[in-house]
Amino acid sequence: MYEGAVQDLIDELGRLPGVGPKSAQRIAFHLLQADEADVERLVHSLTEVKARVRFCELCFNIAEGQRCRVCLDPRRDVHAICVVEEPKDVVAIERTREFRGRYHVLGGAISPMDGIGPDDLRVRELLARLGDGTVTEVIIATDPNLEGEATATYLIRMLTPLGLRVSKLASGLPVGGDLEYADELTLGRAFEGRTTIGNAAIGS
Ligand SMILES: [Zn+2]
Repeated sequence: MYEGAVQDLIDELGRLPGVGPKSAQRIAFHLLQADEADVERLVHSLTEVKARVRFCELCFNIAEGQRCRVCLDPRRDVHAICVVEEPKDVVAIERTREFRGRYHVLGGAISPMDGIGPDDLRVRELLARLGDGTVTEVIIATDPNLEGEATATYLIRMLTPLGLRVSKLASGLPVGGDLEYADELTLGRAFEGRTTIGNAAIGS
């Protein structure tokens, strides 16, 4: 529709999540009119993020080295793991200050509609982390929607026979939503009121 470079930009922007053709066009024209310095700053931050940021080798949270800040922190409880879908969920739970253990980021949720099964998530890596017996408690904090529930059900079935204390965030979170949209208080309460599913004999 447009001349080469402009159309290339619109196409690239249009591939971003949540950016439709109209938004892509609007952003492209905004950039065309923007100051050179502003555009350079944007390019720089894109390059930097790809060069410096990667996923933690242990929990798959965002990290600037081999391990993320949580995994590197010696004050964190190594016996508890909170399983979440995305790195943004780590941020949401950290904000509540209810959890002092470590995390495991699955990289999504089970969604048959989108062809995403357990093998597409970091479930194998989670099981590997549980192998040496250090972790005794797993808290499942997937999103309160259909995919999140399906993922939680699958994980509960996998983890309960391992003799771990498995719990899931209490209901009360807005159903159908994203964990990150829950306010700190609600998420904090859901954490406190989490229900133990597997192996209640070990703990409460
Ligand atoms: Zn980590």
